[in-house]
Amino acid sequence: MEELLKELVEKNRKFAAAGNVANYIPELDKADKNALGIYVTTLDGQEFFAGDYNTKFTIQSISKIISLMLAILDNGEEYVFSKVGMEPSGDPFNSIRKLETSSRKKPYNPLINAGAIAVASMIKGKNERERFSRLLDFAKLITEDSSLDVNYKIFCGEADTGFRNYSMGYFLKGEGIIEGNVNEALNIYFKQCSIEGTAKTISTLGKFLANDGVLSNGERILTTRMAKIIKTLMVTCGMYDNSGEFAVRVGIPSKSGVGGGICSVVPGKMGIGVYGPSLDKKGNSLAGVHLLEDLSAELSLNIF
Ligand code: GLU
Repeated sequence: MEELLKELVEKNRKFAAAGNVANYIPELDKADKNALGIYVTTLDGQEFFAGDYNTKFTIQSISKIISLMLAILDNGEEYVFSKVGMEPSGDPFNSIRKLETSSRKKPYNPLINAGAIAVASMIKGKNERERFSRLLDFAKLITEDSSLDVNYKIFCGEADTGFRNYSMGYFLKGEGIIEGNVNEALNIYFKQCSIEGTAKTISTLGKFLANDGVLSNGERILTTRMAKIIKTLMVTCGMYDNSGEFAVRVGIPSKSGVGGGICSVVPGKMGIGVYGPSLDKKGNSLAGVHLLEDLSAELSLNIF
């Protein structure tokens, strides 16, 4: 397996050349464009890795599945989905336009920015500090990585440049989708995007979902129903507005982030974490998607 991973990393590294690393914050622009790494964690406890699997990066949009899990645990499925939908939007992740024109008057799904900001507002706690620390503790629990922390340089960059996110947050506040303090919700969202980990971190997160929301020690955190909701939304909305094509090419529930990470879930089998910061136009890791496509074909991982 390790040989196969090594071979596929080297074969697919070249695809990075056609993309660009995220540069809306100077700090993200420092990533090595040609980096590519993969970490596989199987349900029976085996771990395999190759390439730049140990490089740290911010999980960005991958955090949206973590906050969604905690928001459902905190508030129940019915409440959460009364405020955000379950439909792919077909628009870029940071798009504003359907927020007002859609008849549903709520963000299309929890994995676009507007939906994720609404979800961040639902994390319980007596103040912003407590609410974010509950989210970070939950992220540590399900990634089984107690060293997880926020990259504060990137957090400051997100907060300094996230003008579209501010506008969506305030719009949602005006519509009653966000009930509490909108600035707290935005700060929680910017901080969750700035959580830093490695391919191993998101591979373990994938394994947690592949194991139906049960930790390695056997402790059940999510109900089967909740795990199913998250995996389904990853298939329909997890790869931005390229989720349909990704499902056809790769066929594995996945969530990507503009830091270059992709967290993939092969139900009942394994979690896969990929890191490759050179992005395509939609915001997905270019070489990372090619790598997953090859791995899915080699190991027959396509769930369809
Ligand atoms: N943090 C960025 C934003 O909110 C990007 C999140 C992502 O799509 O990975 O615009």
